[in-house]
Amino acid sequence: MSTFETLLEQTHAIGREVLAPHAAAVDAEARFPREAFAALKQADLLSCYVPRALGGAGLDIVQTSRLCEALGRYDGSAAMIFAMHQIQVGCVVHHRQDSAWFEAFLRRLVDEQLLLGSATTEAGIGGNLRTSSCAVMVDGERFTLEKNAPVISYGEAADVILVTARKGPDAAQSEQVHVLLFQDQLTLEPTTTWDTLGFRGTCSGGYILRGEGHLDQVLPVPYADIHAQSMHPLAHGTWAALWLGIAKDAYEKSRGFVRAAARKTPGTLPPGAMRLAELDGLVHSMEAGVYATLARYQEHLDRGLDGISGDLHFVTSVSQLKIRSSELMVDIVTKALLICGIAGYRNDHRFSLARQLRDAHGAAIMVNNDRIRLQTSTLLLVRKG
Ligand SMILES: Cc1cc2nc3c(=O)[nH]c(=O)nc-3n(C[C@H](O)[C@H](O)[C@H](O)COP(=O)(O)OP(=O)(O)OC[C@H]3O[C@@H](n4cnc5c(N)ncnc54)[C@H](O)[C@@H]3O)c2cc1C
Repeated sequence: MSTFETLLEQTHAIGREVLAPHAAAVDAEARFPREAFAALKQADLLSCYVPRALGGAGLDIVQTSRLCEALGRYDGSAAMIFAMHQIQVGCVVHHRQDSAWFEAFLRRLVDEQLLLGSATTEAGIGGNLRTSSCAVMVDGERFTLEKNAPVISYGEAADVILVTARKGPDAAQSEQVHVLLFQDQLTLEPTTTWDTLGFRGTCSGGYILRGEGHLDQVLPVPYADIHAQSMHPLAHGTWAALWLGIAKDAYEKSRGFVRAAARKTPGTLPPGAMRLAELDGLVHSMEAGVYATLARYQEHLDRGLDGISGDLHFVTSVSQLKIRSSELMVDIVTKALLICGIAGYRNDHRFSLARQLRDAHGAAIMVNNDRIRLQTSTLLLVRKG
């Protein structure tokens, strides 16, 4: 069995044995899925995307996304945290260049299974990740930073937070850098709580983040490049993969429901069977879209990062993947609910789809779909062909 197949099997085992039994409590208490992350760390899965030369498993982005999808089958919040972590790992892996500091950091990530979080969204700016108001203040070889971040997922559980900021107080809002801070180099002053409809276990409260570090901790390329070449495709690709996992979970529940009904009425198709066939088709098209885009991204990564921003077909396909997958997930979970009926509507039934439905509605607002549509429409006007 290949490394990937072994890790995928291990991920499913952790999903079945650890994520699923705690998913209801994580959701009800809106708490960090600590049991899940203890198990994922134990299996060295937090470093699955780190190259083998640095001690990681060296999975590619398609394989890493398959792990996100697998976790999505058992708990959307834990899967979302896993995906958000891998996005940040990917940014460091792709853009460390020849920085000895970031290479040592990746080795430490492997050894200690560090969990990486992200503070990109900023008060007053919202989901426009290519704009920062806060700035890095440099003094000699050190910097300080203060950011009013309305949403930082698992901010208090993360070992490290990567933060976007202007590169200095005189820089334009789009002249950003990507800075890595360890938990003991920052303070988080809570500004909002996280009592939401779904993805409750991501614990994505708001904070005033204050930090200080060495200039070595600033990734050695402008955030503009990191965003275009990594953050945008990694985020939308891994998110779509875990959303596919949530959609498959809902589909499997509805299939279980129809099969149970069929056993009770041998020789007669239960009414939900037709809908199940429809759902099967939707899951297939969602899956095809997710992995076609991720495979294209991997081809780009194999060729080098430089060609990505100029490939407007790819850039728009990544945005469309995010929009389409977030909508398809809601459609699939809603149709699964129709099949399961009152059993799916109940919170306390084995066919319950309440958590999946609430989580599904979070996807469209993680960087608002309308914002992405507007940006995509601008690109479509300038794109050749
Ligand atoms: C589960 C979850 C976890 C998250 N985790 C993190 C995290 O760890 N770190 C982080 O930094 N962020 C995180 N976010 C925030 C996320 O990345 C987005 O930045 C955030 O959801 C955007 O918030 P918003 O709706 O206020 O802003 P916007 O996307 O700016 O939208 C605000 C409103 O403006 C409208 N709008 C649409 N298009 C435009 C446009 N072009 N210009 C202006 N307004 C427009 C929208 O319809 C919407 O009603 C998370 C969000 C969720 C849901």
